[in-house]
This record gives sequence, structure tokens and C-alpha cells, in this order.
Amino acid sequence: MKTYRYYAGGAWHEPASGRWIESENPALGEAWARLPDCGAEDVDRAVRAAHGCFHNGPWPRMSLRDRARLVRRIGDVIAANAERLGAVETRDNGKLPAHITPALTTWLYESFPYYAGMIDKFEGALIPADAPDMLNYLRWEPFGVAALITAWNSPLGVLIWKLAPALAAGNTVVIKPSEHASASTLELMAVLEEADLPPGLVNVVTGYGPTTGEPLVDHAKVRMVSFTGGVPGGRAVAAAAARQVKPVVMELGGKSPQIVLEDADLELAVNGVAGGIFPVSGQSCVAGSRALVHRNLVEAFSERLVAAVEKARIGDPGDPATQIGPLANQPHYEGVLEEIAKAEQTGARLLLDGRGKGPDKGYYLGPTIFAEVTNDMRLAQHEIFGPVVAVIPFDDEAEAVAMANDSIFGLAAGIWTRDTAKAIRLADRIEAGTVYINNYFNAATQSPVGGFKQSGYGRENGFEGLRCFMQTKSVWLATNPNEPAPFGG
Ligand code: NDP
Repeated sequence: MKTYRYYAGGAWHEPASGRWIESENPALGEAWARLPDCGAEDVDRAVRAAHGCFHNGPWPRMSLRDRARLVRRIGDVIAANAERLGAVETRDNGKLPAHITPALTTWLYESFPYYAGMIDKFEGALIPADAPDMLNYLRWEPFGVAALITAWNSPLGVLIWKLAPALAAGNTVVIKPSEHASASTLELMAVLEEADLPPGLVNVVTGYGPTTGEPLVDHAKVRMVSFTGGVPGGRAVAAAAARQVKPVVMELGGKSPQIVLEDADLELAVNGVAGGIFPVSGQSCVAGSRALVHRNLVEAFSERLVAAVEKARIGDPGDPATQIGPLANQPHYEGVLEEIAKAEQTGARLLLDGRGKGPDKGYYLGPTIFAEVTNDMRLAQHEIFGPVVAVIPFDDEAEAVAMANDSIFGLAAGIWTRDTAKAIRLADRIEAGTVYINNYFNAATQSPVGGFKQSGYGRENGFEGLRCFMQTKSVWLATNPNEPAPFGG
């Protein structure tokens, strides 16, 4: 079994408690790696290293050009080691290599040159403050130590969207991945040793949310938090951060609607709905898990959706022929099975049952489709985060919008129609951070991602993604200091 240690101050450490967590390969249901179960003492070591690096040594004195070079170098090292990193992620959370390895050399990699290039584009501002003999200007400054807390579904992807802007903005970081999938993040630290980073710039602690994550959020030297995870974890982190009034960026879950209007190209819509959830087994924050379909299409749509996915090849994620791998871990797998059983009891009709599909060993579940779902059912409201789609009929555009918005979430939405003007009208009224029209799942480094409502706040990617890691300082300079303002004046 592989043993990983945690990374702080440019060195590897064993957990002070001597406790370890076993990480399973979900394709086999067998433990394959040991991870440190870090407690407050280990967290303190990592945060102090990050704090030291923020204030002392080369990092705070580095020119913007050199900082940009360093950020680019991190991207290059990651891209050069994409196969190695992707293989570890596949082994640790069952993600298909096709969904991670190429991204590390393409659209995830792009975060590094994009934010490196943005570092010297922040021109600040000279404010027309209308005060005599005063110059007022703005600076954009890093917070200091940023805590980056990531989810298990896509540890490297989620992390890169945080790491590149956090460092480009001048912060130092302590990363806390999910205890269900920490190995690829620790492997990343091993490859980053090639990038010659100042010790303490990037640190990783592993362990459980309440005993590793919470001490990290609570640490007085941590000045901001960027969190990706579920709503319950997000609430706990936001509450902990509020104790010391720390800013938080929240990337949370979703129950995203895919609206299929009566004039949609049915084949395109069916493929878009299937492709918007099943290839990643529904384990994506933006997975389109509610198919809102015009009543006149619902039968044809459902039939075609079943036909499109019932023969999907479910199996070993290492096999290039596999289309759908396992769910990422046992507790999650059991939770998804429970949700399917609950849905069966509510009167929803099971059109396609994914249970029992795929190899016997491991946490496999095939595409699962329910029809005759109403939007008030738990199946339509609760984020299952598995390969489960609820087909919900609607009668007109107004009802489709009302149902799409009748959710605590607002992360993403899809609209399928041949009428572009109608699509734009609907997109304006949908409460979601991302709306896809006749496509789904697109993302670009330049385009901000984030949620409305309980799907979160703050944005990743784009200009806003960098801005979230910076704070504004307003500086007042007296240009005629020999004439002090009268007391009280
Ligand atoms: P969780 O909220 O369970 O966990 C996310 C991270 O937070 C983990 O590292 C977890 O640690 C940690 N954590 C949990 N509780 C606390 C706490 N009290 N203090 C500090 N840290 C804590 O999410 P999952 O890992 O289950 O990920 C799935 C969720 O993530 C889904 O809801 C999905 O929609 C969402 N997600 C959102 C994305 C977005 O960009 N909007 C992208 C990807 C996923 P541990 O697991 O070790 O307990």
C-alpha cells in the first residue's frame, strides 16, 4: 500500500497523532493508499509555513514578472506530469482518464498562463476624491494565507481553478482535499518539487472536514477561504469563517435543470441531457439532473434517452473502452442507492435501473432514469450527485421557468430549442450562474463560474476568479503635508 505524507514548509511530514486514513480504489473497493489524518497541530505547522512564506523570504519581494514565471512554471510541471497525476486520480476516485489527463495539458493547464498574464494588468486606480491637496489611489493586494478546500469528485480540477489565481494574486496557500480523494493532490506536491517553489508557498494537509478542515478555517493566520463542496459542508465552513469575519468563496452543489422546449431538436437534446450527466456518473456540480421536458415530447424524449444510454459500457476506468466508471467512494455509492430507493417509494416511475450494472466488485452504478416526476419530489429537489435523471413534464414556457427556479440551487441550466430569441428570453429569467443554450458542460478559463442561491457565491475563472483572491486598499497621500487639517475639521 502506498503511504503519503502531508506537505508543509517544503517538506513531507507524518501526522502528529500517528493516525492514518485508508483511501480506497473505488473500481475494486479496496484500500490502496494511506493518508495522514492531520489534526490541529499539523494544520498549525502548515499555516505557519504559509504565513512565514507570505511575509519572509523571496515570495513577498518577488517581482511581478518572476511571480508570473513561477505561476507558468507550475502549469508546465503539471502538464509535463499529466499522465502520472491523472493515473493517481483515476485510481483514487474512479474518474475516467479521458476526463482528467487531457485537461491537465489543455483547459485546466490554461489557468496558469492566463492568470500569470493577468498579474501585471491590474492598474489600480487614481480616485477623483475631490479633496484638496490629497492624492487617493487604490492597490489590489493579496489576503495572505488562503485556505483552499476541495471536493472528491475532481480534486485536481477543482484545485487548479483555485491555485492558479490564488498564487497569481500573491497569496500563499494551504490546501485541504477531501479525505475520500487526497492522493492526486499529494502527488501534485511531489511533482511541484520540480518547480522550485519557495518553501511554504503551497502546503497540503489531509484529513476529515471537522478535524482538519475546521481547524484550518479557524486558524487566525488564515485570511480567506475558497471552498468547493456540498451545501452542508459549505454552511459549516461559512459559519466557522464568520467567527473571524473571513471572506469565503463558495462553490457548492446544484440540481440543474435541462429544459427541453417543444421546438427542440430532439436528438440534440437527448444527447445533451445524457452527456450532461452520465459520463461523469452525475458526479459533477453542474450535472443536469432534472430534465424538464415539454409534455408533448416527454414520451419520445424518455424513450430516446433510455435507448441512448442503456447499453453504455460500465466498468474499469482504466480500460479505454469504458464509458462510465465507478462512483467515487463507498459512502457516496450507498447514499445514491438510498436516494434511488426513496425515489421509488414516491411514485416516480423507474424507466431505467442502473443498479447491478458493471463489475461485481467496486462501486458501479449505471444510468438511472425516472419518469413521471413532479418538481416537488425529493428526487427533483435533493442533489443526488449520481447518474440519476428525473424527467419532469411541463406545459408551457412560464411553467418551465417556474420549475427551473423552484430549487434552493442555482448553479447551471440547459435550454434546448431551435428558437434563439426564445432561448435568450428564458436565459434571462433562469436563476443560475451558468446557462447553456443547445450545449452543456462548456467551460473556459476566461469565463466565470459560480452559483446563484445556495449554489454559492464568488466566482472562479475569468477576471472575477482572480479578484476573489485580492482585497482593495485605498491610500490617501497628503500632497501638502505642511498644512495639517485643523482638529475636527
Ligand atoms: P463536502 O462538502 O462533503 O466536502 C468538501 C470539502 O470540505 C472536503 O474537503 C471536506 O472534507 C471539507 N469539509 C467538510 N466539512 C468541513 C468543515 N466543517 N470544515 C472544513 N472543511 C470541511 O463535499 P464533497 O466532497 O462531498 O463534494 C461533493 C459536493 O461538491 C457536491 O455537492 C458538488 O455539487 C460540490 N461541487 C461543487 C462544485 C462547484 O464548482 N460548484 C464543483 C465540484 C463539486 P472531508 O470530505 O474530508 O470531510
